Amino acid sequence: MSHASAVQESPATAARTAAAIFPPEANELLRSCVHCGLCLGACPTYRENGNENDSPRGRLYLMKGLADGRLTATEAVTAHLDLCLDCRACETACPSGVRYGRILESTRAMLVERKKPSWSERALRALVFKQLFTRPEALAMAAGLTRFMQRSGLRDAARAAGLVGLLPKRLRDLEAMQPEIKEEPFRANAPAVFPALGGAPKKRVAFFSGCVMDLLMGEIHRATVKVLQAHGVEVLSVHGQQCCGALAFHAGEAETGRKLARRNLEIFRGLGVDAIVNNSAGCGAALKEYGEILHGDAEAAKFSALARDVSEVLAALEPVVALKPPDASKELKVCYDEPCHLLHAQKISAQPKTVMQRIPGVAWVALPDAEFCCGAAGIYNITQPEMSRAVLARKIDALKATGADVVLTGNPGCILQIRQGCKAAGLPCEVLHPMELFARAIG
Ligand code: SF4
Ligand code: SF4
Repeated sequence: MSHASAVQESPATAARTAAAIFPPEANELLRSCVHCGLCLGACPTYRENGNENDSPRGRLYLMKGLADGRLTATEAVTAHLDLCLDCRACETACPSGVRYGRILESTRAMLVERKKPSWSERALRALVFKQLFTRPEALAMAAGLTRFMQRSGLRDAARAAGLVGLLPKRLRDLEAMQPEIKEEPFRANAPAVFPALGGAPKKRVAFFSGCVMDLLMGEIHRATVKVLQAHGVEVLSVHGQQCCGALAFHAGEAETGRKLARRNLEIFRGLGVDAIVNNSAGCGAALKEYGEILHGDAEAAKFSALARDVSEVLAALEPVVALKPPDASKELKVCYDEPCHLLHAQKISAQPKTVMQRIPGVAWVALPDAEFCCGAAGIYNITQPEMSRAVLARKIDALKATGADVVLTGNPGCILQIRQGCKAAGLPCEVLHPMELFARAIG
């Protein structure tokens, strides 16, 4: 294959066996690729640069080489794996059922152990995964500081004075990505139970509100609960829950991810609910995989069996309240962007559309390539800014062509990424979570 020339053959370590460096199940999964290439057209990075090494087939070839010891983890090899968005579009396209996401995450976990990362990468990983995502109080403090900087005007003053420009590039990128905090955190002020509207509850669910979204995007959670209540669902707010672990798993920090998952299992144990509902595609995919990740843990299997995206619960119900057009002054032109971890990882596409089509006063327009990634992909827009920008540019061009007033997408990272893209392009398109638009339709 053409990509073989771009990698270095392993020297002395060539004889290292696959079992020694790679989880056996991932080796098993790797063998399922028959190299047909049917996934290539679905891959955003391959679409950008046409390099076979940056296609699913090429990356599987590289990962197989690492697993069986033919390749060493040189920069020439790992750069192609780092450039992968982990969007899992290749899984949807693959007729052989190759579980690319599981293989990539196993490989990344193996590389984190074997590679010697640079000082700055080590520091960033320690800050993000060891200090923030495993410590809710630290995350809450960081969110509180961000809120204070925004509301006091200090953030704008620092930007205007050029102080942000003095930060190291990665921190600058992080600063630019911060969401505008509109409301207070969700869980801190939430009652333990939100009652169902319209009489006896049709369902009783526990709400997974996660970490960053809970702190920075409380308005999306409030809208979600409101829409559930308006469909006759009783919602429990669960205190003590933590990050789902998705970011950690994607970054190869498997032990941190497992630690977070175990904590959530404890907190959600024995609630006697019909479902554990979330409204974030990335979190939802991780929650549904707890059973597999914590293989053999009966509680993890139970948890994953109960995990649902909010659209799955709502699609099976009907509203119990009257709905009105979300904008009284005009018919809104709205399009839907499919979050990768909803469409490709959870195979959920029809349900959000079924639910959204209940909103009156909306003209739906198709978004070309709605199934392609927007380039957010966790912290990819910080770690791989150039490719992220290129992928985002296509999304914004497609969005421009629709003339939509509103674009809906059910993942916080995608919302922030597309908002940033619209702002940079001067596109007057509102970027919302589907639950936010639905909540506006509830009188
Ligand atoms: S991942 Fe699937 S679609 Fe892609 S080359 Fe392998 S078998 Fe073919
Ligand atoms: S996960 Fe996405 S970016 Fe990575 S190889 Fe598959 S399609 Fe390409």
